Amino acid sequence: MITQIKAFEGGYCRQLLGMIDGRSWRMVRFQAVFFALRHEREGWVLIDTGYGTSFKEATRSFPARFYRWATPATQAGSVKTMLAGAGIDAREISHVIVTHFHADHVGGLAEFPQAKIHFHAEALQTLQRLSPVRQVHGAFLSKLIPDWLPDRANVISPTSFAPTADLPFLLHDLFGDGSIGLVPLPGHAPGQLGVVFNASTGPQLYVADAYWRGCQITRNVEPVGLAMAMQWDANAYRQTVNQLRAVYQHGRYTITACHDDGASAYLNGLGVESAIKP
Ligand SMILES: [Zn+2]
Repeated sequence: MITQIKAFEGGYCRQLLGMIDGRSWRMVRFQAVFFALRHEREGWVLIDTGYGTSFKEATRSFPARFYRWATPATQAGSVKTMLAGAGIDAREISHVIVTHFHADHVGGLAEFPQAKIHFHAEALQTLQRLSPVRQVHGAFLSKLIPDWLPDRANVISPTSFAPTADLPFLLHDLFGDGSIGLVPLPGHAPGQLGVVFNASTGPQLYVADAYWRGCQITRNVEPVGLAMAMQWDANAYRQTVNQLRAVYQHGRYTITACHDDGASAYLNGLGVESAIKP
């Protein structure tokens, strides 16, 4: 059972909205939203970490400096401090789910050496095999990955996901109790995962960066070529977005994306839940 939800804005970068909807000539903030779910047995489970405090240091030298130039980021500070502001002691974070290893999702990972870190088997290995230049193109900064990660990792095998009755995605039941489900949402980054859980208002599907803005789902807009070129696998990305449009049309799940307008306010407004059906 999930008993509490707290969401945070872990820094941001600015993007031209027209990159996504093809028409709006204004800059918008892409907040790096992350959130915590309180599981009644497992304690606080963090989903991503935002930029953390190491982004500037990790992009000091080349080729990583190109990343900072392409997406100048404003850090929000220590994740621990943000959690403390919401009444969560960082030592109580027993699990971190990494949706994918882009810098704006794992920048604060090093602050949680006591936690078990959950991620898809393809998420990290695929990026670590790339050359340093290709890694930066893939929005991956190896300096943000703590040395202790292999000892704390729960690497989730593709074979541990099973079909679900009410979603067009496979699902991995993280704690075996139906409280938190992980669903592969391929395309944006290798092994990207979404998170399924229940709130008092109904079932929730958090898709991380499977899409960036709601207009991609509600108005069938596709990002411009430059933005599509930033996706790991554009064809898989399109297929995932189409599946999410179907979920949206069906109306059972509320879908939230990390960088969408109002994402943290929405997540913070969610209440208590009952168990999901895997
Ligand atoms: Zn991303």
